[in-house]
Amino acid sequence: MQTTFTPEQLQDSGTARANQILRTCVHCGFCTATCPTYQILGDELDSPRGRIYLIKDMLENERKPDAKTVKHIDRCLSCLACMTTCPSGVHYMHLVDHARAYIEKNYDRPWSDRALRWILAQVLPYPMRFRLALLGAKIGRPFARFMPDPRLRAMLEMAPRTIPPVSRNDDPQTFAVADKKMRVALMTGCAQKALNTDINDATIRLLTRFGAEVVVAKGAGCCGALTHHMGKEKESHAAAAANIRAWVREMDQGGLDAIVINTSGCGTTVKDYGHMFRDDPLAADAARVAAIAMDVSEVLMKLDLPAGAAKGTKVAYHAACSLQHGQKIKTYPKDLLKKAGFTVLEPADSHLCCGSAGTYNLMQPEISKQLKARKVKTLEALVPDIIAAGNIGCMMQIGSGTGVPIVHTVELLDWATGGPQPPALSAPGKTVPAVPILR
Ligand code: SF4
Ligand code: SF4
Repeated sequence: MQTTFTPEQLQDSGTARANQILRTCVHCGFCTATCPTYQILGDELDSPRGRIYLIKDMLENERKPDAKTVKHIDRCLSCLACMTTCPSGVHYMHLVDHARAYIEKNYDRPWSDRALRWILAQVLPYPMRFRLALLGAKIGRPFARFMPDPRLRAMLEMAPRTIPPVSRNDDPQTFAVADKKMRVALMTGCAQKALNTDINDATIRLLTRFGAEVVVAKGAGCCGALTHHMGKEKESHAAAAANIRAWVREMDQGGLDAIVINTSGCGTTVKDYGHMFRDDPLAADAARVAAIAMDVSEVLMKLDLPAGAAKGTKVAYHAACSLQHGQKIKTYPKDLLKKAGFTVLEPADSHLCCGSAGTYNLMQPEISKQLKARKVKTLEALVPDIIAAGNIGCMMQIGSGTGVPIVHTVELLDWATGGPQPPALSAPGKTVPAVPILR
């Protein structure tokens, strides 16, 4: 694609990167075939190619974003299916991230949008604030249908019925092991600590059982992804900078072989810290952190887990977009589950998003609901005993639409190798698997 940025415009590194990306697009339109919003809405402007044109026009002309452009960019899930499909290697993620930051700086959103986005940015990344909000949502849920704004309705409806107690495993500390094969830092995250403490608990048990000393670094918290995807650069960079400092301290003091992330949406962002901080004094440290950031499945493959005791239990594996498209990790979670003894099934539309996508299910509830319904249907068609995923957002989204219990992949691996049964398998409202699961 030809571009006409001036040399002055290209002084800005974000614009220069956008220019590089735009020039790799050859308008072939292959990406439209796998774009969930194009499949649902059928509008070229809700396809990757359409959005690329809108972004090009906005940036080249340094135009104040208009409502139409913002609507179509806001409707993008950032699922990155288009990046997997594109034969030309268009880095859509950096392009849309830059467009979102540009929109955030230059567009006057309606006050209700601004207020909602501000609340989400002030609440979700902070576990205690989020816990309080979840308690409020629990009380407000019976009144959801009276909410004038569908987004407020979605927020109340999506709130979980139970909120787990705080897990002290998420506090800064070191989980030492006798026969140490590696030393890793676990990113305990933000929203996940309020929504589901079983995932970090299972991750720590599993990693330490197989020889990884686990550190929860003091000062690390939210990865910044939630605000990054809203274009709120100041907030996302502040969160990411705190992590970089905390992990670099650990790297310099005790040494780290990996930074382990068990929420794939966060993993995609941490792996991109080098790009996010390219113009920042923290650039070198950010690159060091990004270089050792790994999804938990990558680390478990390195630890070479033994065969597990699961007895052919049918697990429908949901591939989170951030894992399969963002991090290009497609086989490790399935390989690990198979080795643990589970029978792994995959839905026909495994490349498509479930509609969770960070705050998307709250901000775009109508499209999100359609994607959820489709994903639940294809997963349930497999008649699984359990659904497994590697991202808390997908687990909440799919779990709210099915009676099949949904757990994180690490919970199943932990269980099959000596850990306790995942609590979600006997949660109220879920169908407890009838088959004998462990030998
Ligand atoms: S598939 Fe790639 S090159 Fe083709 S239109 Fe989409 S982004 Fe552009
Ligand atoms: S990120 Fe997903 S929703 Fe957005 S343009 Fe690409 S395929 Fe479509």
